[in-house]
Amino acid sequence: MLITHDTECALGMLVDLLNTSAEACGQEELPDLAALRDFVVRRELSEVGPLEPGDLAAVHALRDRFRAVFAAPSTRAAAELVNTLVAKAGTTPRLTDHDGHDWHMHYFAPGAALADHLAAEAGMALAFILVAGERERLRRCEAPDCARVFVDLSRNRSRRYCDSRTCGNRLHVAAYRARQRSAADTQDAALAPQGAGAR
Ligand SMILES: [Zn+2]
Ligand SMILES: [Zn+2]
Repeated sequence: MLITHDTECALGMLVDLLNTSAEACGQEELPDLAALRDFVVRRELSEVGPLEPGDLAAVHALRDRFRAVFAAPSTRAAAELVNTLVAKAGTTPRLTDHDGHDWHMHYFAPGAALADHLAAEAGMALAFILVAGERERLRRCEAPDCARVFVDLSRNRSRRYCDSRTCGNRLHVAAYRARQRSAADTQDAALAPQGAGAR
C-alpha cells in the first residue's frame, strides 16, 4: 500500500481524536478547552490559534462525521462523506517546510478554525486510503465492549483490536489460550496411541 508518512500521521491523529468520544471509550476525553488544547499540543498541530468554546462543539460534531466514514457500508458512501468533509473545511493544499520538517503538504486553509484544520488533514488522509482501495483497513475494535476505531496498517490486514491496554491484553490472552489449546491437543494426540494400548 502506498501511503506516505504524513498520511500515516494524519490517520494516527484521526484515530486518536475519534477515540476521545464517550461513544468510543465510555467517557468524554475532550470535555473542555483545556483538554482540546492538550490534544493540539500532543498531536503537534501547527498554526492553531487561540481556542474558543465554539471550537469544542465543532470538534465534537466533527468526530461524529468521521466515525460515519469508518462505519460507511461501501467505498462510495465513504467517498461521499469524505468529499463533504473536505469541501466544508475549505481544504487548501500547499507545500511547507515549517519547523525544520522536510517539504510536505498541508491541506488546511491558512487561518482555518481547528475543526476545519482537522477535517482537511484527516479528510485528505482518508481520501488517500480510499484511492488506494484500502477502505477495509478502517476498522472498529472487535472487542465486544469497545467501540474504539483504528486503521489497520499491518501487512496482512490482520489486526482486530484497538491499541487500548485492555484490548491489547485481551488479544494476547486469546493468543496464549489458543497456543495452550493447540499444545494440549498435540499432547493428547501423542498420548492417544499409548493410552489405547495400555491397560
Ligand atoms: Zn506540517
Ligand atoms: Zn478496543
